[in-house]
Amino acid sequence: MEIGLHRDTWIEVDLKAIEQNIKNAISILPNNTTLFAVLKGGAYGHGTLEVAKAALRAGAKGFCVALLDEALFIRKNGINQVPILVLGPIRPHDVNLAGKYNISFPIIDQAHFQELKNYWDGYTPLKIHFAVDTGMGRIGFREIHEMKKIEKAILSLNQWIIEGIFTHFASADQFDTTYFEMQLSQFKRMVASLEKEPTFVHCSNSASALLHPTLPFTAVRFGVAMYGLNPSYEIKDILPFRLYPALSLYTRLTQVKLAYKGDKISYSSTYTVTEKEWIGTLPIGYADGWTSKMQGFQVIVDGCLAPIIGKIGMDQCMIRLPYELPVGSKVTLIGKDYPHSITSDEVGDKQNMNNCEVILLLTNRVPRYYKNG
Ligand SMILES: *Cc1c(COP(=O)(O)O)cnc(C)c1O
Repeated sequence: MEIGLHRDTWIEVDLKAIEQNIKNAISILPNNTTLFAVLKGGAYGHGTLEVAKAALRAGAKGFCVALLDEALFIRKNGINQVPILVLGPIRPHDVNLAGKYNISFPIIDQAHFQELKNYWDGYTPLKIHFAVDTGMGRIGFREIHEMKKIEKAILSLNQWIIEGIFTHFASADQFDTTYFEMQLSQFKRMVASLEKEPTFVHCSNSASALLHPTLPFTAVRFGVAMYGLNPSYEIKDILPFRLYPALSLYTRLTQVKLAYKGDKISYSSTYTVTEKEWIGTLPIGYADGWTSKMQGFQVIVDGCLAPIIGKIGMDQCMIRLPYELPVGSKVTLIGKDYPHSITSDEVGDKQNMNNCEVILLLTNRVPRYYKNG
């Protein structure tokens, strides 16, 4: 999709907010805990390279991504000084490519190890992390004896380094810690069973790093919270510090008109003007990731809330203005415009999705501009 550079709809990412969120997290973690900044999904839609650089400035010492391609993109853009871990299983026939670019990857079970070994060229150095399934039910070793068998096999192989071991929590963002504790103790058992403890022993995502910062491990994987987004509603009021949202979404009025009683607005004429109303047109629609479910949501213009009326089109939608405003007036869809603010949480509520989904839906057609880079 082409980037809309000649239309007034844009995303602003405040890199200082990301730096601050990371610094605050580091300040509550034990010294020498490595913070891996999670950059999957184009840094949760914020822009991989810009966020990567901000994270390094703030003290992140490594990156996590979901795909080998995401890791390769970072390496090929010259970021070579820190470890990058792919969180999902790579395809066995890509093993030498990962090694060549010094990209770490998980081994998830015995069969996966065998396949990786079959495709290995015999000389490229590899860095692996044992993925351990302690209750997420997604990827990783479930049995100690199976993992220990593979550890033994790897210790006898030249050029393979067991750099880490990790697990992932299913419910670190909930008040009730019963399931979390169960996963934690299973992880501790799995770690303790290894002959040799790897450099990076890690289990925490944002929620766990914030609520349980002193777990006795050596690294955390810090994602959603570094972007200033709440890991969940349940814990948003018990976080140890305030999160600063980095992303704002803006547009500008392209047409302003006075409509009269009985006039219809947008597709299918679902909205009927009831009295004299000032109507503003916004150049944003579902091709930008501003979905049809946003009909009825309020945006901010000139410091006032204004409802989106009628159906949302692919590229445009309409709002009811509080009074006549000039064409070109700035409209805030996510972000602050005193005295109001709109969070990704609220946009998510309207669409029955979480804050990450909201931002990841915003398409590449919307240009990203960076502040405080
Ligand atoms: C995405 C992801 C994270 C980051 O989680 P947040 O909740 O965004 O901090 C950590 N670990 C794994 C395995 C992940 O897939």
